[in-house]
Amino acid sequence: MFDFVLSDAQRRVRDEAREFVKTVPRQLVLDMDQDKVDFPRDFLREAGRRNLLGCRYPRALGGRDLDWVATAAVMEEIGALGYIFACVFGVGAELVCDAIALHGSDAQKERYLRPLLRGELFAAECLTEPRGGSDFFGTTTVAEDRGDHFLVNGQKRFIVGGTAADYFLVYARTDPKAEPQKGISCLLVDRSPGVETSYLYGLMGCRGGGASRVVFKDVRVPKENVLGRLDGGAAVFDTMMVPERLGTAAMTVGAARPALEIATRYTTKRKAFGQPINRFQGVSFQVAEAATLLDASRAMVYSTCLAADAKIGPGPLRRLVSETKKFVTESCQRVVHDSMQVMGGIGYTNVYPVERIHRDLRLASIWTGTNEVMSMIAASEWYRESKERDAARLSRDAEPDAAQADATEEKVFG
Ligand SMILES: Cc1cc2nc3c(=O)[nH]c(=O)nc-3n(C[C@H](O)[C@H](O)[C@H](O)COP(=O)(O)OP(=O)(O)OC[C@H]3O[C@@H](n4cnc5c(N)ncnc54)[C@H](O)[C@@H]3O)c2cc1C
Repeated sequence: MFDFVLSDAQRRVRDEAREFVKTVPRQLVLDMDQDKVDFPRDFLREAGRRNLLGCRYPRALGGRDLDWVATAAVMEEIGALGYIFACVFGVGAELVCDAIALHGSDAQKERYLRPLLRGELFAAECLTEPRGGSDFFGTTTVAEDRGDHFLVNGQKRFIVGGTAADYFLVYARTDPKAEPQKGISCLLVDRSPGVETSYLYGLMGCRGGGASRVVFKDVRVPKENVLGRLDGGAAVFDTMMVPERLGTAAMTVGAARPALEIATRYTTKRKAFGQPINRFQGVSFQVAEAATLLDASRAMVYSTCLAADAKIGPGPLRRLVSETKKFVTESCQRVVHDSMQVMGGIGYTNVYPVERIHRDLRLASIWTGTNEVMSMIAASEWYRESKERDAARLSRDAEPDAAQADATEEKVFG
């Protein structure tokens, strides 16, 4: 349906992702949901072998020289397999990879990025702490300067892929005296003595992705493992928020899609009052509303991808990405909710996977920055841009187009 957006190369990689997810055993999906598997290692190894991880990175690094549109098309297909598959795929191939591709030294790219894209190493991204996730700059994990290395101490929480990661992208305070934006560094931390990971959360959904508590106790990290500038973690964080949130939006569309497909089929077969229930407008209008939300979500994802590919500038892109993450995750949660609704009681059981999709997708509006944080960013960027718009006066100002526009005595602002 949205193929008209895709070039031949983008369509090809999307189709490869589609074929790949068809090969993933059903039993793995079920076992992960029951916490019988802690991390889908073989899934990521195979994705790497098929060169599906990180398709927007240069070929020289192991990618495919594609772009954000292609990434979204791939992420949607991986999401359709199950949200947690897209979580682990995205954390390694999109987030950690993005940070190293944009900020890493040649040696870091060689050692950490290329094997990650081949599916030979696993990585996890460590921002959130037990103390809190939204207030990123309140990070209390510390990397103490010990001459030729840092000594890292602290704890991170809810780290997807933590149990399996060979290395961790960790934000830690390197200058305790500086204001937070200027005293945090991003470090590549190898799994080593002193790094403890435990899979301890009874998650509502998205199980089997190795979400762990990660504790660092006197972990030695060589100085050359600083990613980007020392005390320059904020710059890495800023760029990572694009793949975090745009990737989340793209995979959310994919994860919601099967719920609507299943519900659509169901409502054409299920009969009540002597006819298929999709003949009742109460049912078919809900399905149509869900289809509209899914289409609108996908359209928004692709248009924001085009903005990212066009490098429209960090401020406006931050706003579009935040709006997209919020709109798409909430719309897709609605899609799944309505899909369950039109299936009646059976939708609430594990006879169909809609209940799992519902549990999994609840995460979408919480992780990679809550939707409240998305609104904060969208609001501050919007007001900043509106000042520039007003100053530039590029389009017609509609404010005087009111009969009493000149009633200045009524325009009282405080
Ligand atoms: C399954 C799972 C996987 C995850 N994977 C990872 C991962 O791989 N790596 C990682 O680093 N983190 C990960 N997270 C953490 C996730 O990103 C955080 O949970 C999220 O950012 C929110 O942080 P918090 O849980 O500390 O909530 P808090 O920051 O304590 O927020 C609690 C509530 O307060 C609201 N709030 C906070 N500040 C404001 C404000 N200024 N204005 C309005 N509302 C506000 C929030 O929106 C939220 O509703 C994962 C979480 C889960 C559940």
